[in-house]
Amino acid sequence: MTIPVKVRFAPSPTGYLHIGGVRTALFNWLFARSMGGKFVLRIEDTDVSRSTEESIQEIISAMKWLGLDWDEGPYRQMERRELYDRAVEKLLAEKKAYRCYCSAEMLDAKRKEALERKAKPKYDGTCRNLASAPDGTPFVVRFKVPAEGKVTVKDLLRGNVTFDNEELDDFIVQRTDGTPTYNFVVVVDDAEMEITHVIRGDDHLSNTPRQALMYDALGYPRPQFAHISMILGTDKARLSKRHGATSTLAYRDMGYLPDALINYLARLGWSHGDQEIFTRDEMVQFFNFDSVSVSAAVFNPEKLLWLNHQYIQNASLETLTTLLESLLIHEKVLPDNHGKTQEEIARPIPILKERSQTIKEMAEKADFYFREEIEIDEKAGKKFLTETAKPLLLELSSGLQDLNEITEATLEKLFKEIVEKADIKLGKLAQPVRVALTGNTASPGIYDVVLLLGKERTLKRLSDAIKFSPSNA
Ligand code: GLU
Repeated sequence: MTIPVKVRFAPSPTGYLHIGGVRTALFNWLFARSMGGKFVLRIEDTDVSRSTEESIQEIISAMKWLGLDWDEGPYRQMERRELYDRAVEKLLAEKKAYRCYCSAEMLDAKRKEALERKAKPKYDGTCRNLASAPDGTPFVVRFKVPAEGKVTVKDLLRGNVTFDNEELDDFIVQRTDGTPTYNFVVVVDDAEMEITHVIRGDDHLSNTPRQALMYDALGYPRPQFAHISMILGTDKARLSKRHGATSTLAYRDMGYLPDALINYLARLGWSHGDQEIFTRDEMVQFFNFDSVSVSAAVFNPEKLLWLNHQYIQNASLETLTTLLESLLIHEKVLPDNHGKTQEEIARPIPILKERSQTIKEMAEKADFYFREEIEIDEKAGKKFLTETAKPLLLELSSGLQDLNEITEATLEKLFKEIVEKADIKLGKLAQPVRVALTGNTASPGIYDVVLLLGKERTLKRLSDAIKFSPSNA
């Protein structure tokens, strides 16, 4: 019988959920779903000085936003202390770990001294074979790493990776304050939760031999490992704030669709032929480690933007409405309790979506429609709401008043009449009207703008714009 796949995402809540972290979560999720397995969310909060509740909440919100649902958890390691304490006792009893009484100052001095000698700092084993323990002195618990030999880690992506035990020092498993450390708890939890595959960033590859030895020491079978490559910026440096936003939720606030971001992240290191756009079902269906690359992936913001634009074009009006509404509130175009119906929110979407790469852009472009009062941009106003333009706006106003029915065709006819009579190009009328109706020079087609605003609001804005005109200012 084959054991069902069980994987986990195990973030440390010491900051926001990074784009690299969420890609790791995604690969775990895809693997679990593609194998009909389980996906566990485990919060690794044993570094109490750096972990925050805020970060835990942010991780959970980001996972939910992206639809990366989990089958178990979120576990919090600090709630599982008993389990770790028991494992520490077991290691001590079996002499696979020992209490170390060396003070931080002493260790620091030794470290400095090693660095001066240009040697690799490493715990020197002072307490490894202590005959008697000093009374009342604070201690840490260290793992007794076999002094000699090698440890080989089997990695699904990299094959066998071998490390010399000599390179690994007797690492701390329990701090002076009794809290356990990452390389130890990660093993206890992965084993106790029966994780079959540990899929994580290759920045952890150097931890894996320590963990492998810990599995052996605690008598647990080792899981399969897969270390996925880092994400780099376009300059090939490790992805950081310098390359733009790295917080996952920042992408929500910038108006990216969760599905677009998921699609983009899946392609960072994974491929299926030359297909770029995948539904979630397709990703789940096609995902496997044979098509995951070991070379580092480069984060390309333009490609993400392109993909987002594609997703906007294909999303349902209902989805776009929900997303637009949250962005309008986030951007303070609408208040929280705006009282608008879904139909009202949805109205400008069809004319805006083609020209919007993000929902934020859509919200900005929809600003003129949702605000009762618009603000006319100073520069645009001075340039276009001129004395020459004013009679044109007046004429449009009276023409509109006479129209029984406003349609694209009746508008086109009216605009045509005005420009022909004045013997000007359409732009000479359209641009001032655009500024009058939207406050700015960039907007969708001018007839669409009028149709969207409707007769009453159009007339009101035309009359306001006429007042703005320099001849009256
Ligand atoms: N808490 C570790 C981190 O956030 C987890 C690493 C692992 O997956 O083992 O980097």
